[in-house]
Formats: sequence, structure tokens, C-alpha cells
Amino acid sequence: MPHCILQIALDTPLNSVFDYGWPHEEGALPLVGQLALVSFGRREVMGLIVAVKHETDVPPEKLKDALAVRSQLAPLSKEWLALAGFAADYYQRPLGEVALPGLPKNLRIPKTVALDRALKKLAKLDAATDATPSGMPPLNPEQREAADAIGGAIGFKPLLLYGVTGSGKTEVYLQACSQVLARDPQAQILILVPEINLTPQLEGNIRARFPGLALATLHSSLSEGERMLHWLAAHGGQARIVLGTRLAILASLPHLKLIVIDEEHDPSYKQQEGLRYSARDLAVWRAHQLRIPIVLGSATPSLESWHHAQTGRYRKLELRERAVRDAVLPTVRLLDMERDKPKEGLTSGLLAALRKRLERGEQSLLFLNRRGYAPVITCESCGWISNCTRCTSFMVLHKPEHRLRCHHCSLELRIPRHCPTCGNVDLQPLGRGTQRFEEGLAAMFPEARILRIDADSTRKKGSAQEAFDTVHRGEVDILIGTQMVAKGHDFKKLTLVGILNPDTALFSQDYRASERLFAQLMQVAGRAGRAGLASEVLIQTRYAQHPLYAAVVKHDYDRYAGSLLEERRQAALPPYMYQALLRAEAPELATAIAFLEGARDILPTDAITLNDPIPMTMTRVYNVDRAQLLVESSSRPALQAFLKEWVGLLRALKTRVRWSLEVDPLDI
Ligand code: ADP
Ligand code: ZN
Ligand code: ZN
Repeated sequence: MPHCILQIALDTPLNSVFDYGWPHEEGALPLVGQLALVSFGRREVMGLIVAVKHETDVPPEKLKDALAVRSQLAPLSKEWLALAGFAADYYQRPLGEVALPGLPKNLRIPKTVALDRALKKLAKLDAATDATPSGMPPLNPEQREAADAIGGAIGFKPLLLYGVTGSGKTEVYLQACSQVLARDPQAQILILVPEINLTPQLEGNIRARFPGLALATLHSSLSEGERMLHWLAAHGGQARIVLGTRLAILASLPHLKLIVIDEEHDPSYKQQEGLRYSARDLAVWRAHQLRIPIVLGSATPSLESWHHAQTGRYRKLELRERAVRDAVLPTVRLLDMERDKPKEGLTSGLLAALRKRLERGEQSLLFLNRRGYAPVITCESCGWISNCTRCTSFMVLHKPEHRLRCHHCSLELRIPRHCPTCGNVDLQPLGRGTQRFEEGLAAMFPEARILRIDADSTRKKGSAQEAFDTVHRGEVDILIGTQMVAKGHDFKKLTLVGILNPDTALFSQDYRASERLFAQLMQVAGRAGRAGLASEVLIQTRYAQHPLYAAVVKHDYDRYAGSLLEERRQAALPPYMYQALLRAEAPELATAIAFLEGARDILPTDAITLNDPIPMTMTRVYNVDRAQLLVESSSRPALQAFLKEWVGLLRALKTRVRWSLEVDPLDI
């Protein structure tokens, strides 16, 4: 008879909680929240103890003993377990799949050398607990009010910091942090940013402001050793500020007293595979559970958050002006491509503006959300186009690399010398990506220093940071880039932003496309004129009359958000409706659709709307066809109750179709 029974969550699909015995009489009893090594099948895996009990339904001859308990590590708190439990329930995934993958890899291996070494290292580090701020600039009245409202908030208080680009939201966060840290000598603060590329800038700001305080960062480009150390510093309470990307929302923070979500509208807060969680939504839940304040900051809040602010669930704090003296929002103008015919994709209006910046020694940024040279190549004599053989998409021309590449399945081919169907040797690129603009610009402005920043130019580790540093040092005249350059960066010498090809998003089937485009344009426009130089944003468009552009020209988020919300209300879309999406993948579309049809009928309900299954917009990726079924309800609890039962039934089905469920999907 074992001494006690440990109920242990493992990172396994389907069921994830198993009973193990703990035979050892001597020593302290294992605790809930500790990690335990067990054998599972033929492997040894790390699990999380979720209950310690005295009985089990597992027959004694089948009950295995746990192999070891990581007693050198303080248990994960009740609150942390509740957070993982909530996420598992809400997103309909097994607990172990939520709780375990977020832990550092070195914590989850049988050997303890790395853990013991990290703990020793941590114990030896000087206690960096001096929260005295240094170099605090005086805040303007709106910033002051916001910082005090956040810093002084007691209990669960969601605060929406709605501040135009360059209004100094970072400074508000830092001074609010300072108040919280001064009040509570143990307090920990979690700050999330949407993009890994934004962490160095903010990390620098935080270190400069709190030179005597321990800061930990958590994001995907840390080495395993670093991740272990930073995670342990957060878990042990030594790290007082933890800065990270979305995965940091599941960090163990025993003294968490404030959460900051910067650029809260950003879609990167949503994980798009596996556990498809929203770090922002989990953050709000976590703040609620701990009864602490949370700040959601943005110049273009998500419609969900804006709706909450309108209805009073969130308190709105507003920063209407740019913080730097004399800095004003850029003038936004539309360049009508129907009238001003572009050359190399650039209108004469934009070319003139670029020339002016070069003469004055100021920087320009050209924004285009399309990497590669051209999205497709074609044969003009027979009509052949470079389709991907595995996906419903084109092979993108990457000229510097001499390759055609599919951005969806990573298929790579050499650029064909002649048309595969008719033999014509004159194949033409169609459309323009960042590489082609770069080439055109280099020909037109041979004296300019041009830098392209996109996923292709920054493949090497550290190269993105290097590229951004070059811009900050003023060694670039014209920067051209994708959304990588659009967010958050504080480029001081930038006075011109050109937006090259935004129109396609106007006609997307995705009902969130206009919200997203608007936010993106405001964000990238916000990179200009931050240091007080007069600045300009030029948008090249064929639809100069579109209301979205009119709102961007006026910097009028308020009105535009109001009209989008009204549309959503009338169309019964989120945030007035709660949704989940069941996706299915199969070699043949018909199989996927048939699976979804079966799923639709498996659990009859009146409370929930189950729509007809449809193929996904991009139906085929890497030789599998994909279809989806949208589930909707105006009641979140009703939807949740349905999903729980439904997923149970779906899991019990014998099917070869791969399926997944996404709660609160972003892309439909
Ligand atoms: P946001 O995140 O709102 O776009 P930032 O936090 O990047 O804006 O701030 C924009 C610029 O304003 C930064 O260069 C910052 O140093 C400066 N700034 C912020 N607050 C003040 C202030 N109170 N006085 C002077 N400069 C400020
Ligand atoms: Zn041809
Ligand atoms: Zn492909």
C-alpha cells in the first residue's frame, strides 16, 4: 500500500490527469503544485501534482509509483493552478497541455543538474530589490492622471489606457510601476508586449528607470539556460518586473500586483496553434482572480476592449496629445493612384516627398505588408501562373535568393527559365513585394541608404535587432518593411511614412479586416514625427473615398470604432456574440466537410447556432484540405456549457480527420 496517491497532470492529449502512488514513508509529503517525474508508457515524463489523496480507483496491480518529486522547487501556487485550470476549461483542452508546455524545458527533464545549477546561481545573485526610480521625467497632466489612476488602483480594476501614438504610454506604465513597487516591497509586475522585437527597447527603458531592481524577460528567443533562470526568478519572487511576450502570461508570479498589456489590440496576443489562447483575455482573468489592477494600452484598442470601456466595465484613461514637446500627430494625406499613376509602384507625390526627406537628411519609412519580390510570376503567352502544387496559394518570387517560395508550406523551387506549359522564356513578375520596391528605390535614389526589414532579411538570430539599431543610429535614409517595422518603435528622425498597398484588406471576407487595417495604419502612421519634427503620412490608394481612410486622415479612432461597433451589433458579431470555430483537415475536402456535418448533428441544441460547414478561404495547405464550422451564441456561459459537452463527444469519435476547436477565433 503506497503512502499516498498523487493525482498528476501530464502533457498528453485527451485525458491528462492520472493517479500514481508515492510509497515513501520518510520525508515530507509531496505537495499540490510540485512537479513529479513519472513513467508514462515507455517514457519518463514530468507531471504536475494537482491533488494528494489516499484513495484511487486504479487497481493496486496497475498503480505505478511516481519516480521523483522536485522538492527543491517551491510548489506552483493555488492561484497559478486555478489559472491553468481556467484556461484548460475555457479553451477546452486537457489541463496538462496548458500547465506543462509553458514550463522551461530543463524543468521537465529527468536530470536535475540544470535545475540545481540554476537554483544555486539564483541564490548567489545579489538581491536586486532597490525600486528607487532614476531619471523620471515630469509627466504632463493627462499622463499624471493616468499614472496615478493605475498606480493607486486597489482591487480588480481593468483600465484602458487609450493614448494616441507617441503620447508616452510607456512613461505612464513606468511611473505607475514605480508607485506599486514603492508601496509593496515584494510586489511583482507583469508587462506584456506583442512582439519579441519590442522587448529590447522596453527592457532598456525599464533597466534605466529601475537600475537596482531585478528584471526577468520571458520570450521565445531565450536560450534554455536563460529561460530557466528567468522563470525561476519570477517563480521565486526575486524578479520584480517580468517582461515578456504572450507566453509569459502563464509565468508563475507569486506576488503579482499589476499587469500591463501594451498594444492590447495586437493579434499576436492570440496563439494560433495548439492551445489557442488569448494572452490578453487570460490576463484580465488573472487580474480578476488576484483582485489586482490591469492596464490595457493602445492607440487603437480592440473593439472588445473599447466596448467594455463604453459600457463602463473598463475605466478609460485618455492621452490625447503627444508627449514630446512640439511633437504633433503627422498630417495624413491620400495619394489617389487613379490620378497619379505610379512608377515602380510609387506615385509622383510619394517620390517627391521621399526626395524632400533625403535633401533634409530625415528618415522615411515605407510600409508594405507583403514580403518577397512579387507575389506571383506568370507567362503572358499562355496564362500559366506560379501556383503552389500543395496549397491554394501562389509561389512567391524571391529574387535575391533566386527562388520561388510558398509562404504557407515552405515549398521552394528554382525560378523556372521558361514556362512549364508553353516554353516561353519571358516570365513576368506580377505585383510587388518589399524586395521589388527596394530594387526600384535603389535605382531611383542611388545616393540613398536603403534598408529592408522583413522576415526574410532578419532570419539570422539577432539580425532584427541589429537592423533596428542601424535605423536608430540614423544610418538609414529609407526604411522599407512589413508589419515588423510598424509597431511600437520610437524612431526619432522619421518624418515620412508611405503606405504602399493597403487596399486589398478593404475587401477581405474577414469581418475583422477593417478593424485590423485601421489599427495597422494608425500604428505605422504613429512612427512619424515622434521627436517634434513636422511629419507626414502618405497613403497610396485606388479607393480614396473609402470611409476607413477618411477616419485615418482625421486620426479619428473614436468615431470609426463607434461605427464598426454599430455594424457588429447589427450583424450580430463579436463583441455582441460569442463564437467558437471547429476546424477539420483531411486529404479530401469532402471528408473534412462530412466530419463537420456529423459534428453539427451530434449534440442537438436550441441554445446555440451551428452554421453550415464551409471550406476555409485558403482551402488547401500542404496537401490537406481544410474546412470549418462556426458555432455562435449570444451567451458566453451557454456556449461554454455546450462546448464542454460537445468536445467530449467529439473526442470519443473514431475518426481519421484531424480537428481542432478554437474559442473566440480571430480569423474566420
Ligand atoms: P507611445 O507608446 O504612447 O506611442 P512612447 O511611450 O513611446 O509613446 O513615448 C513617445 C516619446 O515621448 C518617447 O520618446 C518618450 O521618451 C517621450 N515622453 C514620454 N513622456 C514624456 C514626458 N512626460 N515628457 C517628455 N517626453 C516624454
Ligand atoms: Zn506559357
Ligand atoms: Zn504551398
